[in-house]
Amino acid sequence: MKINFNTSLNNDKGTLVFVHLKGKPIDKYLDNLNKKSKGYINKIIKVSSIEFNNSSYADVIVPKNSNADRIILIGVDLAKLKSEFEFGKLGSYITSVLNEKKIKDIKFIIPDFSKKGMYEANILYGMALNTYRFNKYFTENSKKRRNYLNTIAVVSKNHKLIKEHWLRYNAIKEGVFLTRNLVSEPANNLTPVLLAKEAKKLKNTGLKINVLDEKKLKALKMGALLGVAQGSANKPFVVTLEWRGRPKSKDTDFSFVGKGVTFDTGGISIKPSGGMEEMKYDMGGSAVVLGLMKSIALSKAKANISAVVGLVENMPSGTAQRPGDVVTSMSGKTIEVINTDAEGRLVLADVVWYAQKKFKPKNLVDLATLTGAIIVSIGQEKAGMFSNSTKLSNLLEKAGKEVGEPVWSMPIDNTYEKDIRSDIADMKNVGSGRGAGSTAGAIFVKRFIDNVNWIHLDIAGVTWAKSDKPLVPKGGTGYGVRLLEEMVLQYLKNE
Ligand SMILES: [Zn+2]
Repeated sequence: MKINFNTSLNNDKGTLVFVHLKGKPIDKYLDNLNKKSKGYINKIIKVSSIEFNNSSYADVIVPKNSNADRIILIGVDLAKLKSEFEFGKLGSYITSVLNEKKIKDIKFIIPDFSKKGMYEANILYGMALNTYRFNKYFTENSKKRRNYLNTIAVVSKNHKLIKEHWLRYNAIKEGVFLTRNLVSEPANNLTPVLLAKEAKKLKNTGLKINVLDEKKLKALKMGALLGVAQGSANKPFVVTLEWRGRPKSKDTDFSFVGKGVTFDTGGISIKPSGGMEEMKYDMGGSAVVLGLMKSIALSKAKANISAVVGLVENMPSGTAQRPGDVVTSMSGKTIEVINTDAEGRLVLADVVWYAQKKFKPKNLVDLATLTGAIIVSIGQEKAGMFSNSTKLSNLLEKAGKEVGEPVWSMPIDNTYEKDIRSDIADMKNVGSGRGAGSTAGAIFVKRFIDNVNWIHLDIAGVTWAKSDKPLVPKGGTGYGVRLLEEMVLQYLKNE
């Protein structure tokens, strides 16, 4: 989707879309038309179903003295729009209306209603996020889910300020689309080596990228991660990415760490076949980290940020690890593998440790489609958040509300420690009872957190949408990219 910015409507041909604010006079162009056509526009507004509830519109039959093909009025009540997310939702609605009518190009007339142009830009952002489609495997056009909206010519007196904000949102959008692409990709076309290649492509955004192969992982003694990978013919990789937006400082403000299990059969503790195809998105955490790093680089964030993703495939085979095996993690701690399907935490154990040793970050956030139990606990609207820092978790919670990617704080105090006690090793990789399965995963990862402000986000419920949501066409959601970009921005403001 292309956007260009203009001060005034110098040519009224094509489709004109107006934001019509509740309680405000109609746009000058419409007012002129109204006068020339004996009050026709006002009459349309009166008799149409336009409701100013931010999800209704009037499709005006164009009067003789206009050159437009079409005039669409979107009824907007500013009093009801209270966050960036709500303005984005309005934009997402507009895209749905235009796609329903197969409209490709519009002139979008926005009255200036905020001094800084941010909310106007959020409408465009919501429009853009809802144009995403994953059509690459359809060979017949009729099977594709089409997006028609292609160019928006924004008309606003505020266009310079809107454009400034749009540049940031466009960078985030690029990251979200990358994450959605990776999450949607089937596992035969996104093995660990292919995902590492995708990460390497981000070099052209200015990120420093390093790929560690199996030999290097063995040298680093990443026994927990290697144990997961040993059953697959597809070799494991770990990729690091670095952005230095404050080159004068040696500090690392954040490290982001992602689970990248490109396919999870469960291993020898094999999963039931119903729904197993969904395990192609068990690399969702790493996809978010890659999308986020792309956004951060494209928007030239003024922070030092590093990332580590652990890429493996979890397969059952003659070389696969067995339940009861004991592995030694890079940290030196030993783990009894009770269930080979609790493999994500084994990968995280080594990559969060490596991120801390290599980058010494002030803050570390890991993301993983870690447990089905998180869906049992809190459903699919929010990610489960586990943290050792109230300051950091408050910041993330606030960011989640602003961008519409909410998180929910889950318990992780020491009373759960006994759940992962093992009779033979320092810990085991699953809890003892049936309860608090997500916390058992988090408390396991916490064993590898040394002295850093830390958040673990369990995104198993929010990585895939089975139906359309505001800003998110069904499929891979990209949840986490917008959330963490906003958190970094707020963090920098507070520092
Ligand atoms: Zn698993």
